[in-house]
Amino acid sequence: MKPRLFTPGPTPVPEETLLELAKPVTYHRSSEAKAILGEVTEDLKYVFQTAQPVFTLTCSGTGGMEAAVSNTLAAGEKAILCTAGRWGERWRGVLKAFAANIVAVEVPYGQAVTPEMLENALKANPDAKVVFSTLSETSTGVGHDLEGYGKVVAKTDALLAVDGISGVGAMECRMDAWGLDIVVTGSQKALMMPPGLAFISLSEKAWKKVDATPVRSFYLDVRRYKKSLAESDTPFTPGNTLIKAQRASLKRIRAEGIENLWARHNRIAAACRAGVQAMGLKLFAERPNSALTVIKVPEGVDGSGTLKTLEKKYGYKWADGQDAMKGQIWRLSHMGYTDAFDVLGALSALELVLSEAGFKLEVGAGVAAFQKAYAAGK
Ligand SMILES: *Cc1c(COP(=O)(O)O)cnc(C)c1O
Repeated sequence: MKPRLFTPGPTPVPEETLLELAKPVTYHRSSEAKAILGEVTEDLKYVFQTAQPVFTLTCSGTGGMEAAVSNTLAAGEKAILCTAGRWGERWRGVLKAFAANIVAVEVPYGQAVTPEMLENALKANPDAKVVFSTLSETSTGVGHDLEGYGKVVAKTDALLAVDGISGVGAMECRMDAWGLDIVVTGSQKALMMPPGLAFISLSEKAWKKVDATPVRSFYLDVRRYKKSLAESDTPFTPGNTLIKAQRASLKRIRAEGIENLWARHNRIAAACRAGVQAMGLKLFAERPNSALTVIKVPEGVDGSGTLKTLEKKYGYKWADGQDAMKGQIWRLSHMGYTDAFDVLGALSALELVLSEAGFKLEVGAGVAAFQKAYAAGK
């Protein structure tokens, strides 16, 4: 059985990147290591669409989120939390750990927090220091209007922090042009890498707040990373093998071009949604994003059981819903090193499994709709 990974993190990794991971370990304070970090930083700036440095942290994405919170908020300072799912709730967890005064703008799973909702919260809370938001809410498949958020936050003194984990590299995201003050992402989603690295960048407006905030974390103190990166170095031993591998995946992204990468994700996502609907299934997200497609489990179908069969019988690893959503939704990633034919295969396997389980559908209808929509896309 050929294993096929379609979870929204980790995602498949290209061969040239895997080969980097097979090479002997090297010393991390060599001129070669510095040159590699320098290249990775430049390519990350391109991916983030920013002129600011992007710092490489050796931790999972949540570590990057913790860096965003711990460096910008003193205890008791007010934060506006935009939350539409599990990853908005991850921000809440980090904010609680750092004793923030949280004002939540909350919508049910499947819905999106609109810029208008955020604007109202900012008006009601002029003392808010930072807004915490999620580009791609990976637990529901919702994509948020960060360009819209940027416009409303720019009119205030508050900062806009974005969890771009699973979004950056899959959805259009322009840090500088959209006025995003802090962007965080992780290696294992759209950046075509195994887990282990997080990346964070801060605007000049954000640095002013950082410099006025007491130090609350040793390992994640961004001032240390800034000082080191000026010499193309890191304050602590970095995951240098991962950084070398990330260089290879970033070269692939550079070669494709960031706009082409966004367009590819949009085209596959649109085709996938057409295929899903042609199978008689419903989408879960009211504002779907291009990183993944989230499907409502139809009435009378065993959601978790279907995913187990997909994996056991056909090798396709989809993701279940998380927490209370378990068994209610199916999540299919099409980010990073995943192409149209990979996703087409995943949909065809779902058609087979559902049909074998007695669910009424015409086998091939979803595949045909995918192909038609893909052919019509650009
Ligand atoms: C995966 C994910 C995270 C969690 O990142 P870890 O690498 O598991 O710490 C956070 N936010 C979003 C939107 C994600 O998709």
